[in-house]
Amino acid sequence: MDQMTGAAEANAEIREEVRKLCARFPGEYWREMDRARSYPSEFVRALTEAGYLGVLIPEEYGGAGLPLSAASAILETIHASGCNGSACHAQMYIMGTVLRHGSEAQKRAYLPKIASGELRLQAFGVTEPGSGTDTTSLRTFARREGDHYVVNGQKVWTSRAEHSDLMLLLARTTPKEQVRRRTEGLSTLLVDMQAAQGAGLTVRPIRTMMNHSSCEVFFDNVVVPAENLVGEEGQGFRYILDGMNAERLLVASESIGDAKWFIAKAVAYAKERQVFGRPIGQNQGIQFPIARAHAGMRAAELMVHEGLRRFETGEACGEEANTAKMLAADAAWAAAEACLQTHGGYGFAEEYDIERKYREARLYQVAPISTNLVLSYIAEHVLGLPRSY
Ligand SMILES: Cc1cc2nc3c(=O)[nH]c(=O)nc-3n(C[C@H](O)[C@H](O)[C@H](O)COP(=O)(O)OP(=O)(O)OC[C@H]3O[C@@H](n4cnc5c(N)ncnc54)[C@H](O)[C@@H]3O)c2cc1C
Repeated sequence: MDQMTGAAEANAEIREEVRKLCARFPGEYWREMDRARSYPSEFVRALTEAGYLGVLIPEEYGGAGLPLSAASAILETIHASGCNGSACHAQMYIMGTVLRHGSEAQKRAYLPKIASGELRLQAFGVTEPGSGTDTTSLRTFARREGDHYVVNGQKVWTSRAEHSDLMLLLARTTPKEQVRRRTEGLSTLLVDMQAAQGAGLTVRPIRTMMNHSSCEVFFDNVVVPAENLVGEEGQGFRYILDGMNAERLLVASESIGDAKWFIAKAVAYAKERQVFGRPIGQNQGIQFPIARAHAGMRAAELMVHEGLRRFETGEACGEEANTAKMLAADAAWAAAEACLQTHGGYGFAEEYDIERKYREARLYQVAPISTNLVLSYIAEHVLGLPRSY
């Protein structure tokens, strides 16, 4: 892969170890998971036991205390190895809200258990059917009653909800009509999902184009102790925004990994497949889409690295994180197209893993933020164009 990137890899040791771990989970494993729509528990367990999902948790709370670039290297390598990190990537970063805005008691109670894998905090309840991208119009409401909140409402596309002990929920605590700005009056609460199921919380999986364990979640008078409020009441939207740059850079890293996987697979096949008595890779019609995909991947990768550098030095990185997320998702998609086309009919056969990765890679142009919303961010916040919504 060094030759392909043309640059020395950062976090080379971590990448090497992750590659070894991923080699234990080859295409057959993922095909089986995909076919049965199963959660890749063994893979997630292996990552947890190796400590990879706790790398961003500071050492004093039981994690490895590594910078974001280490998490990026882990997720990129998982995807470049043909595996899929989406089953557990959120365990790495949702805890950031607790770390940055939680009380000391919450940090002591949750972070060491999240680091060890004893507690899974990997469900993130933001999107709702009625509000979609317009997050501040969400309607799930947490009403304070003495020492607890009573939550009513519905979330959709809550990934990993069936495989999470805790959910970080964004809910209204003051009606939109009663706040000065629409971003106020939203709060973040930690919901104990195991306790709440059977006590008003219903989780319903959604069958999707790829195996993603995403769910609808219904709240019917779910009681959440007031001590589970993270940070200040009414400031939740700000806390969620705070974590988005990290999330975007990590998801972009997964797309870079996908792009590398598709390109490596396409190159290998183009060299080996003989048609008209010569390798198909000798035709520029085959070479050029792969070369273009590689160029796009490299440019996106540099933007991911720039975003990581700025994040780690504490500089503003909204522009870089958003741009990296969009370019990396586009690069993965271009590489997916080139790889499928290079394989001709065989690209459609399950056993090549291309059609599975193709479906998986497509998601990142929609989630966790869609391409239009990234462009809208750049237009408004970087270029100073008038706000459109
Ligand atoms: C598999 C999967 C997993 C997900 N996991 C999670 C999760 O764990 N937690 C969570 O909270 N959410 C999750 N999501 C939700 C995801 O973040 C949303 O689907 C995404 O933000 C888009 O929202 P929407 O689907 O409601 O689309 P809509 O808001 O209905 O938008 C539809 C289309 O219109 C475009 N659009 C909307 N408004 C504008 C505008 N003003 N200008 C230009 N274009 C616009 C959008 O870009 C999009 O292309 C997941 C989604 C999927 C598919």
